[in-house]
Amino acid sequence: MVAPLHSDNSASLADGDSIADLFDRNLEWARGKTQSDPDFFARLVGQQSPRYFWVGCSDSRVPATEIVDLDPGEMFVHRNIANLTPVSDINFNAALLFAINVLRVRHVLVVGHYGCGGIRAARSAVSNDAIGAWLTPVRALCWQHRGILHALPNEPARDDRLCELNVVHQVDQVCANPLVRQAWQDGRELSVHGLIYAIGDGLLRRVCNPVSRPGAARADSCSEDVNDEHIL
Ligand code: ZN
Repeated sequence: MVAPLHSDNSASLADGDSIADLFDRNLEWARGKTQSDPDFFARLVGQQSPRYFWVGCSDSRVPATEIVDLDPGEMFVHRNIANLTPVSDINFNAALLFAINVLRVRHVLVVGHYGCGGIRAARSAVSNDAIGAWLTPVRALCWQHRGILHALPNEPARDDRLCELNVVHQVDQVCANPLVRQAWQDGRELSVHGLIYAIGDGLLRRVCNPVSRPGAARADSCSEDVNDEHIL
C-alpha cells in the first residue's frame, strides 16, 4: 500500500502542487475519525451496506452524504449534471443495477437543487457540445411545461419551478425503469423519492410523494421539509 501523503513527505510532488493541502486534510480527517471511532475504517473494509441510492447533481455545493449527515458506507451515490436518470445512459443504469440488485437499497432518492446551472443552461442558449446534448431532455421538459413556466413572474421563479419539474420527471423515469419494475414485481420493498435541496438554507424538501409500487399516485409539488421523515 502506498504511504499516505501530507505536506511533510510530499517531496515527490512538484513544487506548488495544488492538491497538497488535500492530503493534509485527508490525514486530519482520518485521524479524527479513528479517534472518535477506533473501528470505523475496519468496519468499512468489510462490506458496504447502504440503504439509500442518491441520484444528485454534480454541483459542488450539494455533497450527498454531508448534507444528510451520513458517514461513508451509508449511501450509494450517482451524480451528473442536473441529476438526470435516462434509461439510455449506461452509467446511470449500471449504478442503478448495482444499487438495487447487489446492495439491495430500500430507497432511491432523486435529489435536485434550486439554482442548478444545468437547468438554467437548458432554459437559455442551445449548444451542440456534450453539455447541450446531455441537457436535451431538460429542454424538452421545459417546452412541455412552457405554459406553467411562462405564467410565473420572473426568470428565477421559472428556473426554480423547472428544477422541481425535472425532479418529478426523473422520479417518473426511475419508476418506469425495468430494473425498478422488476424489483417491484419480485415483491421487493423499494421506494423512489423526489427531493430538492435549497443551497440558501441547507434544507431538503419533498417535491412529490414517494412511490413504492407500480402505478402508485405521485402528487406533484409537495413542499414540506423532510427532516422529520423516516427515510433518512
Ligand atoms: Zn445542478
